Amino acid sequence: MCSSLKKKFLICLSLMTASFSLLAQKPHSPVVQKAWDAKVAQAMPTVKPIVKAQKARKILVLSAVKGWYHSSIETAKTCFKLMADQSGAFSVDFSDDPAFYTAENLKQYDAILWNNTTYTQDFFDSTQKQAILDYVKNGGGFIGVHAAADCGTSAAKAKSTWPAITELIGGSFDGHPWTRKGNYGICNEDPSHPVLKPMHGQGFMISDELYKYKDYKRENQRVLLSIDMKESYHEKGREDHDHALVWVKDYGQGRVFFSSFGHNEHVYCNPMILQMWLNGIQFALGDLDAATAALPMPDAHKNFKPKKKKK
Ligand SMILES: [Zn+2]
Repeated sequence: MCSSLKKKFLICLSLMTASFSLLAQKPHSPVVQKAWDAKVAQAMPTVKPIVKAQKARKILVLSAVKGWYHSSIETAKTCFKLMADQSGAFSVDFSDDPAFYTAENLKQYDAILWNNTTYTQDFFDSTQKQAILDYVKNGGGFIGVHAAADCGTSAAKAKSTWPAITELIGGSFDGHPWTRKGNYGICNEDPSHPVLKPMHGQGFMISDELYKYKDYKRENQRVLLSIDMKESYHEKGREDHDHALVWVKDYGQGRVFFSSFGHNEHVYCNPMILQMWLNGIQFALGDLDAATAALPMPDAHKNFKPKKKKK
């Protein structure tokens, strides 16, 4: 299930979009951003809710950074706004004002989504941090996209740490040996999981920056997708070869959906990933019933032996 890779399609997609993705760390020019927004709009119509929302759902999106700025942040905002408007599964509000994150304000939302946020431990004060943790623990949803894991115990240049948010998310950024220009094999660990329906039980290839995580424990979450070692081993990866990328988990009464994908803009124009995100969002909102019990590490990872380098 880790093979069956859609190489040709993705290589083609990368070539089509490579010209737009050279300016990391700065917002795109309005012209370039408009082009990305148009590509997202083109991809969105096939993305449909997997279940009917039980009631009107509302998500609060945070896109604030205290560390690295991802140029895909604005594309992601367009993506989740269009997904909300076109699917009808939820509506979105955007706020990057830390003072808005109070227990009282959070009550009106069914989930919060962190869009490539970095070093949130330096962004929120202790009361706001507690309000966020309590909100999820008491039944709220949390959706993390790509750099949302660059916080908590990820503290290379941060002024503080926030281990509790790493525990909530399920892992913390620990480098990205798989850089944004590569094309990597993805292992489908849970082919029948509803969040992964658009993958049709298959693994696939993707061009994106993939994180290595620390303070990650497989037994705390249900890993859905991971890096296929056979296809994309990296010597700077974890020694246990356990490179989770997409997972779901419980946090108290709340639900967490996390996706490592989302560095490269073209990921937001990939209907398969968009559908997986909408499914994961519906899980986090409480509309999609989906298993969160941990799965054992696949034998493909457990038994993987890297080839020795020729001297
Ligand atoms: Zn990144």
